[in-house]
Amino acid sequence: MSSVSPRALVVDDETPVSRTRRARKMYRALHERYPYAHCELDFSTPLELLVATILSAQTTDVGVNKVTPVVFAKYPTAADYANADRTELETIIQPTGFYRAKTDSLIKLGIALVERFDGEVPPRLKDLVTLPGVGRKTANVVLGNAFGVPGITVDTHFGRLSRRFGWTEEEDPVKVEHEVGALFMRKDWTMLSHVVIFHGRRTCHAKKPACGACPVARWCPSYGAGETDPDKAAKLLKYELAPR
Ligand code: SF4
Repeated sequence: MSSVSPRALVVDDETPVSRTRRARKMYRALHERYPYAHCELDFSTPLELLVATILSAQTTDVGVNKVTPVVFAKYPTAADYANADRTELETIIQPTGFYRAKTDSLIKLGIALVERFDGEVPPRLKDLVTLPGVGRKTANVVLGNAFGVPGITVDTHFGRLSRRFGWTEEEDPVKVEHEVGALFMRKDWTMLSHVVIFHGRRTCHAKKPACGACPVARWCPSYGAGETDPDKAAKLLKYELAPR
C-alpha cells in the first residue's frame, strides 16, 4: 500500500493556485489507483442510462443492474415508457425501492421525450433538466457517459469526499459542482467523478475511512478521520480491493 502522511495536512491558508495543484495531484493518484473507474450502471443507449440513473436513486448500482435487463427488453423506446402499464412497470422495478415514484417518473419521462424531443434523449444539460425525474446529477451522468460531454456528478460520495479533501466547504451540490469543477480541466470532469466515487465506495467510507491504505493521504486534510494503521486499514477496503 502507499505510504501515508504522519499527520493531517493543514490547508487553512492555501492559495487558489496551491489548492488547484494539490487537487490535481490527488486526481492523478486516484486515477492511478482506479484506472478502470467507470459508470457502474449497465447501459447501451442514452435512454437506458437515463432510466438506470433514475432507478438508482436511494439504492445501489448493483441492485439496479439486476433489474434493468428486464426493463430495457420490455421498454426499448421512450414511447414504451409513455404507454407503459403502471402496475406492470411497478412490479418489475419494485426491487429498486420507491417504485411508485420511480414508475411515475419513467412514464412522465417517456411522455415528455415523445412530446418534446421526438422520443430521443436530448444531449444538452438545459434540456435534460427539464425532464421529469431528472436533476443536474442525473443529467451530468447521462452527458458524461452516454454523450461524451464532460460533467461532474455530485452524488453523496462526491460531495462528502470533496469536503474531506478540502476542495470545497459547500454543502449544496450545485455549488460543489462549480467550485470543484474550477480546480480541474473540463476534459477531466467525467473521469474525476468516476475515480472520486470509486474512492468513496472502496476506501474513503462515510463512517470509517481507510486512511492507512489511502493513495491520497499525504494531500488530505482529513487524514486520521479513519483507521491509520496500514494493516487494519487494508482490511476496510471493499470490492476488488478487499483482502482475499
Ligand atoms: S481515506 Fe482518509 S486520508 Fe484518504 S481521502 Fe479519505 S479521509 Fe482522506
